[in-house]
This record gives sequence, structure tokens and C-alpha cells, in this order.
Amino acid sequence: MGKYQIAVLSGDYIGPEIMKAGLKVLQAVSKDKNFDYEIKELPFGGAAIDKTGDPLPQETLDKCKASDAILLAAIGGPKWDQSPKRPEEGLLAIRKSLGLFANIRPTNISSVMKPYSPIKITDPVDFVIVRELTSGIYFGQPKSQTKDEAIDTMRYNADEITRVTKIAFDMAMKRKHHVTLVDKANVLATSKLWRQIVGAIAKKYPKVTYDTSYVDAAAMKIISDPFQFDVVLTENLFGDILSDEAAQITGSLGTIPSMSKGQTGPALYEPIHGSAPDIAGKGIADPISMIKSVAMMLDNSFNRSDLAQEIYLAIDRSINKKVTTPDLGGTSSTQEVTEEIIKSIQESRNEYVTNDVR
Ligand code: NAD
Repeated sequence: MGKYQIAVLSGDYIGPEIMKAGLKVLQAVSKDKNFDYEIKELPFGGAAIDKTGDPLPQETLDKCKASDAILLAAIGGPKWDQSPKRPEEGLLAIRKSLGLFANIRPTNISSVMKPYSPIKITDPVDFVIVRELTSGIYFGQPKSQTKDEAIDTMRYNADEITRVTKIAFDMAMKRKHHVTLVDKANVLATSKLWRQIVGAIAKKYPKVTYDTSYVDAAAMKIISDPFQFDVVLTENLFGDILSDEAAQITGSLGTIPSMSKGQTGPALYEPIHGSAPDIAGKGIADPISMIKSVAMMLDNSFNRSDLAQEIYLAIDRSINKKVTTPDLGGTSSTQEVTEEIIKSIQESRNEYVTNDVR
């Protein structure tokens, strides 16, 4: 089999710092593990504006389309505040061009992360939010604003709901077999359509239990009882808000990855945070969000959950040893955390070999 092609979009400010960390871990974890890949580094965001005037140059888009997976670090920042084109336009354009209609964000609080959570963790927290990404109120027409009136339109059609629902149920089949649809079906017509369609699809997955929750109740449950969730399926606006709320209960923005995918074509993996201009160049950005994005890619795009697990376990061990960046209360640099994670992967492999020989 040929080499997997991975498009790499490092972006701006801390983007290149954490991407470097992610790629080093990818190199270490794939060594001698029958995972051959080729990296294509491509300009994107502010860096691409500086080079070509466009946040998503055609060549970057073409090469992303031709790849097996895309790794993105982060884009944007004050340097382009006055620019006629903004780096963030690149994000919307790439999602649209690649048809990335489902955004998946894990909320996983492993035992080592418990002390960092602002809430009391009594049971394991391990759920994903599957958010519809390319429709709903951010895109619906008409949209307008005058001096004393403004209009936004929340609109969904059956196809848009069906395709993201299938992703949520397929995901539940590989996890804890539970889907919760979050909506506002007591008030919104779009939510009533979601309930109708998702309810019908749920019947085709008899192994998956299915329930629903109003968005206001779900916002409370994420804080008071997050243990009950497995896959949370929701529309764009609610997903935007709930996924940021869910990120907060893990303790640090700098540790959370995400995946965006469509029906076909490469999926895109990226940390949930931005380019953190306030800490760029200081060597203290937490690389874990990027390293976990690499793990998520290995698991979901390349079916290598074995390699992903090695990464997750090594991250937990390094947090346990308190080798962490300042966002997790530590004093280590981006590079030190990355090296510790790599060392931990290598040591656990050596231990395995030693135990095997004994
Ligand atoms: P941000 O997420 O970049 O930063 C928010 C806070 O979290 C900052 O204090 C930052 O230092 C901290 N932080 C973020 N990532 C961290 C990490 N890995 N390690 C340690 N601390 C970390 O949000 P912002 O400051 O509002 O936005 C900065 C720029 O990023 C803006 O231009 C924004 O548009 C852009 N942005 C890009 C993306 C993306 O690339 N997908 C997403 C959100 C924001």
C-alpha cells in the first residue's frame, strides 16, 4: 500500500508551535508500526494571506482535497485585523469546499484530569458532541439588519439532518450505544423536524438507546450530570454553545481536539482553541490539543486506534508526572511536554518488549 497523504495547515501565532509538537509525536508513534505517511505543509489563514493575499489559496484547497486527512493547528490574530481578507474566512471556505457538515468534539475527563475540572467528577466523563456545522441560523436566509430591526433565519432540510444523524448513530455504535438529541422542540419548527427525522433513523439502530433533551436542560446536565451522555447530537447554534460549555468542564482549552467530516473525502482534525496570540513565541502553548488531534486522526481516518491509545496513555502519564504547561498549572515548555510524551511512548514500548521476552 502507498503512503498516506496528510495535509498540514500550521496557520498562525501558536499554530506552528503546536503543529511541530503534533508531528513529532506522529513520527514517534508510527515508528516501526507499519504506518507510512507523507506530510504536505500548506499555507492557510493569516500565513496564506501574507503569501498569496488569500486565506485559502487554490493550491492549498486542491492538495487538501487530494489528501487522506488534514491536520490544522490554528489561524487568525491581530496582525490581520485591518486586512481586507480575514484569516477566519479560510475556515468557513475550507469547511464549505470539503463539505465538512459534522463537527465532533470529545469531552473526556480521564482520572488524571479530574483535579483540573471545575466540577465535581464522581464518575467517568466521556461523551462527544456531534454538531451540524454547515446549516442552521448561521447560514439561513433571509438575514438582514436595519436601524431598528434584525432578522436571522434558522432553516434545515431533511437531507442536512439525516446525514449528520447517521454519523452520530454510527459513532454511538462504536462507543456506548446511546444518542441524545438536543433541541428546542417545544418552541422551534426546525427542532420538530429534527425530532421527526432523528426518531425515524433511531428505529434503524435497535442497539442504540435514544433520548432527547431540550437545550436549556442539556446545558444544566453538562454541569450537573455529564456522566449520562455518550453521543450528543445537535444543530449548529446549540452545538456551538454547548461544545464550549463542555470544553470548560475538562479544565483546559489547550487539551481538546476536534474532527470535522463530510460524507466522503478527507476529515479535518484541529484543536478547539484559536491561535492564542497572547502566548505565541513564548514556548508555553499546551501542545496536548494538537497531539490529541493527531490521535483522533489515527483512530478515525486510518483505523489505528492502537496508535491513538498509545498517545492518549502517554499524555495521561505526562500529566500525572506534572510535566505540564502553565495552563495546567505546570512550568514545562511546549517542547518539554512533547518530549515527555514521546519518551513515555518509547518507554512503554520498551517495557512491553522486556515483559514479552521474560
Ligand atoms: P484563543 O482560543 O486563541 O485563546 C483563548 C485563551 O486560551 C487565551 O488566553 C490563550 O492563551 C489560551 N489558549 C488557547 N490555546 C492554548 C493552548 N494550546 N495552550 C495554552 N493556552 C491556550 O481565542 P482568542 O484569543 O479569542 O482568539 C485568537 C485568534 O484565534 C483570533 O484571531 C480568533 O479569530 C482565532 N480563532 C481561530 C480558531 C481556529 O483556528 N479554528 C478558533 C477560534 C479562534
